[in-house]
Amino acid sequence: MVLKVHPSFGALHAVTSKGRDHCLEEVRHCLANIAKNKHLNAFLTIYEEEALQRARTIDQKIREGKGGKLAGLVVGLKDLLCYQDHPVQASSKMLEGFISQFSATVVQRLIDEDAIIMGHQNCDQFGMGSSNENTAFGPVLNPIDPTKVPGGSSGGSAVGVQAGMCHVALGSDTGGSVRQPAAFCGIVGLKPTYARISRHGLIAYASSFDTIGILSKNVEDCATVLEVIAGKDDFDSTVAKKTVPPYTKQLTLNKKVKVAYLKETLEHQGLQEEIRSNTLATIRFLKSEGHQVGEVDFSLLEYVLPTYQLLSTAEASANLARFDGVRYGYRSPHATTLTSIYNKTRTEGFGKEVQRRILLGTFALSANYCDAYYVKAQKVRRLIKEKTEAILAEYDFIILPTTPTTAFRLGGYTQDPLTMYLADTYTVQASVAGVPAISIPNGVDKEGLPIGLQIIANAFEEQSLLAFAQYLSKVREEK
Ligand code: GLN
Repeated sequence: MVLKVHPSFGALHAVTSKGRDHCLEEVRHCLANIAKNKHLNAFLTIYEEEALQRARTIDQKIREGKGGKLAGLVVGLKDLLCYQDHPVQASSKMLEGFISQFSATVVQRLIDEDAIIMGHQNCDQFGMGSSNENTAFGPVLNPIDPTKVPGGSSGGSAVGVQAGMCHVALGSDTGGSVRQPAAFCGIVGLKPTYARISRHGLIAYASSFDTIGILSKNVEDCATVLEVIAGKDDFDSTVAKKTVPPYTKQLTLNKKVKVAYLKETLEHQGLQEEIRSNTLATIRFLKSEGHQVGEVDFSLLEYVLPTYQLLSTAEASANLARFDGVRYGYRSPHATTLTSIYNKTRTEGFGKEVQRRILLGTFALSANYCDAYYVKAQKVRRLIKEKTEAILAEYDFIILPTTPTTAFRLGGYTQDPLTMYLADTYTVQASVAGVPAISIPNGVDKEGLPIGLQIIANAFEEQSLLAFAQYLSKVREEK
């Protein structure tokens, strides 16, 4: 039951950086872990020489007292984030040979603060999946039990952090793709408010849900990175202009809080018993510490997943239309006419799950069914958002399990997409509502597999969300 808190990047840096080639040592250490854990298949590309070179340069800057805020932080990037002059493929054959012409805003901000990019990490193609098995490069394995999936779609990123191949990773979370793999791998995963972080340079899946999220071993590292990458961006007009608070300086919870838990989430029949009991133990703990905890009805729970699926596939069908064999990456060598370029390229380039979602989304948007599916789902989205906001008007946080089960067997659901989709039961609410949510470790099940606890807060309340997550991680470890 006890939460394990890892020393943060800042804390390690403070004790180890004095007069040593700290960054170089860190990069070498990560490279050794990558080599040792090759079988986990977390990285698709490793920028070894470049990372070593940057480490030397940054060590010198540190000696001169000129190191940036993230000097020496080793970062992994999900294979959906553009990094100038480096390949990016969305783990799909469709983008074979594609080289980014610019860096995503988040990547540039990390580099500007002297972080070191280690490489691109395996994921479900175009962010579509919950097990990291929908990839053109072979599945990623869970480091805790390699017969199990690491979660998805940011599976390679979660594994990279868990197994010490990088300090933190940037993933993307459209319906849970940062939080769910974080839970399956026993680390921290943050999905910010929808408009908190620029999406410029993120390969789009479903634009009204997509967020860039952070995977780390502890809450502090997550705050450190968020502080750097959040905030307005001239390249993405959907980002809020709100100032970015100094998250790392406000990680202490200094009041009693009001926490809601949703009745339906704990009564759900698909919920694994140990996850239920660990969530209940957290509730008891909070009460014993004098916080106010209340049970709330959320009868909309059963509609959240269908709403997400209809809207996200509809948006995906539009976003992925650009991959046509003409503009980017792969073009079928078997095509003879213009139409066959499109048909063959898309059939050969996209994986099965991506094709399934494009078909579903195209159907939901088609003239005859648009009102019945797409328009209706938009209305239900509004109801879910309003209900979530109403709860958060009365309570500071909502807590719920991150996932209904712990990491499942590799190949367990590859033939059964509907069961696979259920892995997102608890993560999609925050995505549909656009509010921030974090997953933190909350013990293990009887097989020793990690359990995640999810905390949801009001839009732009990352500050209190991180402080509460830090409190739960630290206080319970001390008890
Ligand atoms: N697992 C979810 C899905 O398959 C979420 C994906 C994501 O957040 N990118 O759609």
